[in-house]
Amino acid sequence: EKKLKELKEHISTYPDFPTPGIVFRDMFSLLRNPAAFKDLRDVMVEVTKRNIPDAQAVVGLESRGFLFGSVLAIELGIPFIPIRKPGKLPGELNSVTYQLEYGTDKFEIQKESVQPGLKVLLVDDLLATGGSLKAGCQLIEESGGEVAGCLVIMELLELRGRDKISQPVFSLLEF
Ligand code: IMP
Repeated sequence: EKKLKELKEHISTYPDFPTPGIVFRDMFSLLRNPAAFKDLRDVMVEVTKRNIPDAQAVVGLESRGFLFGSVLAIELGIPFIPIRKPGKLPGELNSVTYQLEYGTDKFEIQKESVQPGLKVLLVDDLLATGGSLKAGCQLIEESGGEVAGCLVIMELLELRGRDKISQPVFSLLEF
């Protein structure tokens, strides 16, 4: 609890970024502080071991999900798998199209990265409306995997993104 409170103080807030009315929470101020980054790593590992001990792989959402997901995968000694925006991954792919506020976007994953029944921990930096995390879950399931749980560093509570997601969602810092 004390650690989480300290970590939250390292997150910078930018009103009206990237557009007027949006309050942007910036992780990179925390990552610039090596001791805080290390503490964050320890908390991520602890929360995962306690809540999702059966995870067999970490899937990270492009792009900040890669930062935290890869740290976690190394610490847990399990594979890291990326979900990327279109046109970035080689080989045979599965894809999912999801709704944005205006228009749609697409996520892709390499077919060979998800064995049938693979129990996955899905990681991203921040949960806002939940659209990205929901699309990530859908893509993993359509690829034959199972979402054991989702982990985000930050959660914007008033947007109620977690209501969209049927799998367990764990967040470390709430705003
Ligand atoms: P959602 O799909 O609406 O839940 O939005 C989550 C995605 O948008 C995540 O991948 C975040 O990286 C990004 N995002 C939304 N708001 C913020 C913010 O305040 N800070 C950093 N990233 C954000």
